[in-house]
Amino acid sequence: MVIQPKIRGFICTNAHPLGCAANVQQQIDYVKGHPVQGQAPKNVLVLGCSTGYGLASRIVSAFGYGAKTLGVCFEKEPSDRKTATAGWYNTAAFHDKAKAAGLYARTLNGDAFSNEMKAEVIEAIKQDLGQVDLVIYSLASPRRTDPNTGETYKSTLKPVGKAYTTKTYDTDKDLVHEVTLEPANEEEIQNTVKVMGGEDWEMWIDALDKAGVLADGAKTTAYTYIGKELTWPIYGHATIGKAKEDLDRAAAAINSEFAGKHVKAYVSSLKALVTQASSAIPVMPLYISLIYKVMKEEGTHEGCIEQIHGLFSEKLLAENPQMDEMKRLRMDGKETNDATQAKIKALWEQVTQDNFHDLSDYKGYHQEFLHLFGFGFDNVDYGADVDPMVNW
Ligand code: NAD
Repeated sequence: MVIQPKIRGFICTNAHPLGCAANVQQQIDYVKGHPVQGQAPKNVLVLGCSTGYGLASRIVSAFGYGAKTLGVCFEKEPSDRKTATAGWYNTAAFHDKAKAAGLYARTLNGDAFSNEMKAEVIEAIKQDLGQVDLVIYSLASPRRTDPNTGETYKSTLKPVGKAYTTKTYDTDKDLVHEVTLEPANEEEIQNTVKVMGGEDWEMWIDALDKAGVLADGAKTTAYTYIGKELTWPIYGHATIGKAKEDLDRAAAAINSEFAGKHVKAYVSSLKALVTQASSAIPVMPLYISLIYKVMKEEGTHEGCIEQIHGLFSEKLLAENPQMDEMKRLRMDGKETNDATQAKIKALWEQVTQDNFHDLSDYKGYHQEFLHLFGFGFDNVDYGADVDPMVNW
């Protein structure tokens, strides 16, 4: 099968196995070229291991610290006629490369929110690892079925309190335009908290502990985005921000419940980047295209792998990591500092349909978007026939 990108709106509906492998290899090369620091974890569970920040967490754990990694993801397998999802191919590539490096890797594909997946993971830890000493919670999902009630909740990306009118960029139509986002009602806020808040993170830690597979002194982190004034109305102070606030509650609850076991739970704040999750958020493609421009000029641009490498080395696995007033680990300073934000704000005010491509780094944004699905790599021949039936 010859595989060319099929882009529909903010998503690409296919993926290239060799390009996904090239993406994984680039991240491994980065980690190999940048030694890690801190207390090395031995056995790492990565929930949401196949793309974005979770994949980078797995790569840093394995290729930086030499850890055994057990991953959970929700990806579609390939068929003769349809490619798999990018996360499937990323995972297959990760397994290949881990095997070649003599690193243990096991991945379970299914719904991480379910009781069944929790039981399967616990069984796998018992069989292969004994216990885990680091748990990365990196799920990004538009819906969640509560395993105890069977009810399915959907998240919403809406402002809270009042409607918000702002500029946005429609990647599909190549159009900068104004959009008014209506505020969420109380039910939509609560449903978003149910999907992207801390309840499932707590359920994972409880289940691992009850089964005796959570090591004493284990660390765990969930990822958040805090951002600044430009993104607060649609992110930080919006429905998704309310869900992220619930992560702070969950971290405090885990820390207090497992204090006797010396478990440490952190919320880690990362910078805005192109991932499958962020490209679905209104306003984000415009904001990210502008910050890429500013941060590349400043020489502070980072991708998932640089962010996670820094997080693990300087904060998460460091002896006494510096925390903010909410006890969060912050890796977003290069984006959210006042000087950088002022430059982004100035561009934001000027940007129109006519000057968008000059003022922004949409080219860089789009290139990274293609990379997410294994497209746009120079070392891959996209005209060649490839077998989509890749497995691990
Ligand atoms: P992503 O879409 O790249 O990755 C999501 C992962 O979750 C994938 O591995 C996917 O397979 C897995 N997943 C989704 N639903 C699942 C389910 N039901 N069961 C098992 N696995 C499931 O997303 P991302 O951008 O890397 O986001 C990860 C975390 O980082 C999120 O909490 C997000 O809010 C946070 N974050 C993202 C950004 C950003 O700009 N992208 C910035 C800061 C923080």
